[in-house]
Amino acid sequence: MNEQNIYIVRCGEIALKGMNKPYFEKTLVDRIRKNLKGLTGVEVKRQEGLIFIRSDKSCPSEEITKPVSKVFGVASISPAVEAPSDLEKIGEAAVEFMKKQIEELGIKTFKVEAKRADKTFPVKSPDIAKIIGAKVLIGCKVLKVDVHNPDCRLFIDLRGDRTYIYDEKISGFGGLPLGTNGKGMVLLSGGIDSPVAAWMMAKRGMILEAVHFHSYPYTSPRARQKVEELAEIVSSYSGKMKMHVINLLPIQEEIVMNCPEEETTILVRRFMMRIAEKMAEKTGCMMLITGENLGQVASQTAEALVVTDNCVSMPVMRPLIAMDKVDIMDKAKEIGTYEKSIEPYEDCCTVFLPKHPATKPKLYQIEASESKLDVEKLVEAAVKSSETVWIDL
Ligand code: ATP
Ligand code: MG
Repeated sequence: MNEQNIYIVRCGEIALKGMNKPYFEKTLVDRIRKNLKGLTGVEVKRQEGLIFIRSDKSCPSEEITKPVSKVFGVASISPAVEAPSDLEKIGEAAVEFMKKQIEELGIKTFKVEAKRADKTFPVKSPDIAKIIGAKVLIGCKVLKVDVHNPDCRLFIDLRGDRTYIYDEKISGFGGLPLGTNGKGMVLLSGGIDSPVAAWMMAKRGMILEAVHFHSYPYTSPRARQKVEELAEIVSSYSGKMKMHVINLLPIQEEIVMNCPEEETTILVRRFMMRIAEKMAEKTGCMMLITGENLGQVASQTAEALVVTDNCVSMPVMRPLIAMDKVDIMDKAKEIGTYEKSIEPYEDCCTVFLPKHPATKPKLYQIEASESKLDVEKLVEAAVKSSETVWIDL
């Protein structure tokens, strides 16, 4: 038997990259190493378009598969055993492997699926499957073959002089490795949407930084704590990240005192965008990211989004723009942010919420209202007051 446990990691979309493929693969390997850095005796290596992880026998499989399946760029991971590419030896290893599956999972039926990466191997894949299947039947008397609905699919993957045997493919999220697509500033609230939006951009390889606005003392320290905890969940995928925390209350008070009530929400949103843009420029972020979603609330009508965008020159990414709320909620559940998001704490957007917010704001009217404020000074003061915390799980 093997001295070490072996895992096969498949890279999904990276396989489609042309000239840049080695760069993406190398970045992915680095990310996998980073996610496994707490473990000793782990080796991560690129080989033939796959990534192989070897770990000490004593290291439980979950400690490898869980963190690796959270690395963006990983399509799937399989705990495997290795044998020399010799049908006798493969057969022996397959029998051993299946004995363990019978003992641990109580399987009764199986099907062999064989694949040759190396077409010079003298036996064709269907014949390899038949030969290994017969050896397993002899070695494990309790098993029967079921080609339609087996308890266990036994994969035999021949690669050069080594063969890998496994029965499960634990799905990753796919996407591209972190760090392959610039850096973005996410406007992170305590709601359901923005953590999902952040996660989706990180999944495409973007490094994240976050900005959060509160209205202390109208919003509580516990509400801020909740956002930090939410950011921690996001960072378990997107890596250690900086979060800038800013009190928006002085701006909100200015708006409430000087501008029409129904415009409060859109005016506040424009300030958020301006401040986020300034923070982004300072920290080398190329774009802003929000959890906005077409038509969800008054500030997210087509008209409102156009007026919001107009105050910044940086591109604003809205990955949830065309999703339905139920689908966003499902995604939030899948990535583990939902339960935290629905904890009932105040948000700065609900402070000074107008009774009838404008759903079709006109840019000239909004600009006229803003002319009563010293926009630049207010933005500058907010940026200056920002407090930075490192978010790391
Ligand atoms: P979410 O679930 O993300 O809070 P929402 O449906 O409640 O979204 P809004 O409150 O209108 O929508 O916010 C729209 C977007 O503006 C959010 O997705 C987020 O990107 C940003 N945003 C809202 N509130 C804050 C905040 N307190 N701090 C930082 N960004 C915010
Ligand atoms: Mg919100």
